[in-house]
Amino acid sequence: MLNIVLFGPPGAGKGTQSQKLIAHYKLVHLSTGDLLRAQITQGTELGLRAKKLMDEGLLVPDEVVIGMIDSALQDNKQAAGFIFDGFPRTVPQAESLDRLLAQHETRVSCMIALEVGEEELVKRLLERGKTSNRPDDQDESKIRRRVNVYNTETAQVAGYYANQHKFHALNGIGQIDGIFTQICGLIDQHQQPVVEDPAKAAAEVKA
Ligand code: ADP
Repeated sequence: MLNIVLFGPPGAGKGTQSQKLIAHYKLVHLSTGDLLRAQITQGTELGLRAKKLMDEGLLVPDEVVIGMIDSALQDNKQAAGFIFDGFPRTVPQAESLDRLLAQHETRVSCMIALEVGEEELVKRLLERGKTSNRPDDQDESKIRRRVNVYNTETAQVAGYYANQHKFHALNGIGQIDGIFTQICGLIDQHQQPVVEDPAKAAAEVKA
């Protein structure tokens, strides 16, 4: 399975790149933001609780998003792999993802981080807010709070994957297709077939 964590601050382009990646690699897209907004649209109790936090630019409790990812994994047992978009956002979420994927006998292949500076993020999100209907995209102070939450609570998740030698960062400013090509290059490195028995493989090469 190919399981990609797409990482970066709000407005970095994770959603845009996810759409291209799911088409290219035939993966299932799991965006906790989208899953939460679906709960809000359905008017569930979880959605009502989450909306208050999301509108303020704050994180929803770990157990809520972990529960949603758990059921999404159960519902997609035949998937070739997943793109995790907007998850994990805290180290406990990252630890839970490792545990959940292990239950499905798979693991995170790699994390790709899109790097974009704060002023560009604010500009992009205010622009998106004109058409997205998202209250959290329409107010500059809420956007800056989300970026701040990213810097203080989420950025450390990169270190979690760096420790596992799975972390890659890319400049998120540039042509969408150019960034996509670079992401694919990084993913394909992780797609190299795993050599189960290096001694046997070396003997086969010699023979
Ligand atoms: P963006 O990355 O543009 O902020 P998302 O759609 O990923 O947008 O998230 C919107 C909001 O949903 C976040 O500000 C947060 O309130 C909530 N949210 C999404 N994913 C998570 C998560 N993994 N943990 C906690 N809160 C989350």
